[in-house]
Amino acid sequence: MPLDPARTVAELKELRELTGDEKGAQRVAWTETWETARGWLREKLAGLPLEEEIDEAGNQWWTLRGASEQEVLIGGHIDSVPNGGWLDGALNVVAGVEVVRRLAEEGEPAVTVRLVNWADEEGARFGRSLFGSSAAAGSMADQDELRQHRDAEGIALPDALSEHGVDLDGALDARKQLEHAAAYLELHIEQGPVLESMDLALGVVLGTFGVERHQVTFTGQAAHAGSTPMDKRRDALAGAAKLELEIRAIAKRTGDGAVCTMGGVVTKPGIVTSVVETAECLLDQRHLDATRLAELLSNAEAAARRFAQEEDIEVAWERIWSIEPILFDDALIELADESIREVAGESHRLPSGPLHDAAEVARAGVPTVMLFVQSLRGLSHTKLEDTKEEHLELAVQALDRLAEKAIARVAAG
Ligand SMILES: [Zn+2]
Repeated sequence: MPLDPARTVAELKELRELTGDEKGAQRVAWTETWETARGWLREKLAGLPLEEEIDEAGNQWWTLRGASEQEVLIGGHIDSVPNGGWLDGALNVVAGVEVVRRLAEEGEPAVTVRLVNWADEEGARFGRSLFGSSAAAGSMADQDELRQHRDAEGIALPDALSEHGVDLDGALDARKQLEHAAAYLELHIEQGPVLESMDLALGVVLGTFGVERHQVTFTGQAAHAGSTPMDKRRDALAGAAKLELEIRAIAKRTGDGAVCTMGGVVTKPGIVTSVVETAECLLDQRHLDATRLAELLSNAEAAARRFAQEEDIEVAWERIWSIEPILFDDALIELADESIREVAGESHRLPSGPLHDAAEVARAGVPTVMLFVQSLRGLSHTKLEDTKEEHLELAVQALDRLAEKAIARVAAG
């Protein structure tokens, strides 16, 4: 049975019919529709010489035993956000089904190959993304907090999980799944505009951005808008406004994909008759390189200090959240590049803004790479999410080539 990329497209449409409605995909993790999707996936692989297993975190695994116990993993997630798109997550697992079919047909592979459908990548119901992959990676450390999480209807996370056979405390036992993993491959839609703007079907992902997220608070003095002369004001919003414009220059100077966003400013007292006393800004900065990320942050801090001095106000920084950049494996990046050039002629290397299950697997020390396929209009997490069918087919072919090359590399040691 040769690889049949058109079948992947047909199966993705079948899945959309089965688990979507007029508003989009409804495969939210830990729901009946999600179980329907998982059952559908199981049927697609029935009849192949695979061992199926659901681990302690709810991840679904299919194993094709090879000559060596070393493993090449192909992974994705079949869960979606509510009213989501037909490809986010599902493309990876359904394309993986096609690759596993081709491999199984050709007899025992040189190394063991496993397909994994990660549980709850999106975190749509309980606000905790990358559930199954972080459990398997051993990086899940928020069990106590997760116990308190409830969905919109007040159902507690542990209760929802146990309905699907998962015990929150036992989830970390999924760690043993990565014991023999020697390579992890994931195909995903880009969910952004870069490949489309370059008129390219496919790209290799270098890693996921590191993120620095801060609340920056400027503090001045509330004063009457009528009686306070312009040169006597201590206007907190002036500092915030200068910083908002300066972060563009900082991102530009740092370059190489640096992005800085001031996503919100709350001013107090926030009335038309008063100078602003406090301006609380939300600042998000991202870079693929840890040193450059630190540079983005220190430049913004220095600029904020300068503006505070100029405006005779104070500034304070508070970190909300941060994560280091996660880089993918150089050798696998080369193989992915080759695979893309073989099927599509031209390749491109780009970072990923969003986090993916692949980032968790890479964090666990498994050599990892991702392929991105073009997203039309850069849209995702909406039913408008789409990719040209010819590009989807090229993506299946590229994943298949990459799997072949990764197997050969792992087998060669
Ligand atoms: Zn996804």
